Amino acid sequence: MTVRVRMAPSPTGNLHVGTARAALFNWLYARHEGGTYIVRIDDTDQERSTKEFEDEILSSFRWLGLDWDEGVEVGGPHGTYRQSDRLDRYRQVAEQLVASGAAYHDVRSTEELESLRARAQQEGKHPGHYIRRPDSVANEPSDEGAIRLSVPQDRPVVFQDLIRGEVSFEPRDVDDFVILRSNGTPTYHLASTVDDVDYAITHVARGEDLLPSTPKHILLTRSLGATEPTYAHLPLLFGTDGKKLSKRHGATALSDYRAMGYLPEAVFNYLAILGWSPDGETTIFTREEAIQAFDLEEVSRNPAAFDPAKLEWMNGEYIRAMDRGQFVDSVKPFVEEAVGRSLEENEWERFEELAGLIQERTKLLPEAGRQAVFLYADIDEYDEESWAKVMTKSGVGDVLDMGIAKLSSLPLWDAASIESVLREIPEELDIGAGKTFQPLRVAVTGSSVSPPLFESMAALGREPTMARLKRAREELG
Ligand code: GLU
Repeated sequence: MTVRVRMAPSPTGNLHVGTARAALFNWLYARHEGGTYIVRIDDTDQERSTKEFEDEILSSFRWLGLDWDEGVEVGGPHGTYRQSDRLDRYRQVAEQLVASGAAYHDVRSTEELESLRARAQQEGKHPGHYIRRPDSVANEPSDEGAIRLSVPQDRPVVFQDLIRGEVSFEPRDVDDFVILRSNGTPTYHLASTVDDVDYAITHVARGEDLLPSTPKHILLTRSLGATEPTYAHLPLLFGTDGKKLSKRHGATALSDYRAMGYLPEAVFNYLAILGWSPDGETTIFTREEAIQAFDLEEVSRNPAAFDPAKLEWMNGEYIRAMDRGQFVDSVKPFVEEAVGRSLEENEWERFEELAGLIQERTKLLPEAGRQAVFLYADIDEYDEESWAKVMTKSGVGDVLDMGIAKLSSLPLWDAASIESVLREIPEELDIGAGKTFQPLRVAVTGSSVSPPLFESMAALGREPTMARLKRAREELG
């Protein structure tokens, strides 16, 4: 049997990290099994579904590298893979279920029921075509004429979940549920089940929040004469405080992480370790290693904590692992954005001198822009906090004076020569290294957070460095 799995996002919001992780696990499973990964759009909620959300979701999938074999945009043997295009199909299935006695039109009053039944008989319809709704759902809002599935009340619904093991639902917890509303629109249960049957889905891996829907889908599938897929309910994501992941915990849309400068490889890796690891402990691995080792059965039953700090750490690991050229290419747009203009080829040479040092200090790509901006833009304003902390201390004027004197007579302008003369200052003034180098750093880069000082001065060049030291000295008064 060829594995066929699907991801079925509803385009009613941006792609949530939890949904992205469910998509990732489906994708990994399909790739591991040499199966087919399908993306369909669950847009039966016409009021809340938008094209913008759909585009955002699909572009986030692509950014993560979760390519699909069948589905929206790429096509396949099952039409458009969009639920709003299949409303006739769902209506037809609902009527077919009524005709076979598995479902019925919901009627509330006994009187009306009798007249409807008489009519049904005349029309040669199934005697169970109209049924009074059972007491268990008597209090649900009336939707006269909606079609409900007739749920057998004599046995539980039992299935083997790949992650949770045996799961059993009592029939009274399922109730005769609506599959088609009286206005002819399908419920999620009907549309999702019909799609899973029509598209020959073999495994459904989805969030645990949908577990209560699963007995309904199983009963519907069986009523259609089909065999239900294998289910795997993924534990939900929690914040580091143990509460359900929400906006309070920070960004929850995948596209937010993309905008912050995260690498797709790092996000892919991080989502994969939310409840899984190739060997139970390794945290950093490649896409190919994940495909090799992945199995739905090995996903942990325990809720996983989504920790943005750990994701940031992991992103830093991926940045450090890049080769230099790749790093430079990746940060170019962020450097240009920080500088506010595009840079010439010879200006990039200065960046490349510092690239290794910047790379070591970068966890998010835009940070590289902030570290490099001093190379290209004059300091409009010193970083306020840095100035207050460093430049208002006593003795700063002496340090700057001495730095200016020593550097102006330096024959060769490179990091080693700069270092050797500047290191004489703390000795001669009998002060600490920090008290010496921090003021020089703020003077030259505008901030107390920058790449290492000597290399920064070397990359900036002699004249701009001297000019900035002198200007800071003047600012001190
Ligand atoms: N459209 C549903 C959702 O986004 C899909 C659920 C499912 O995978 O069956 O929650």
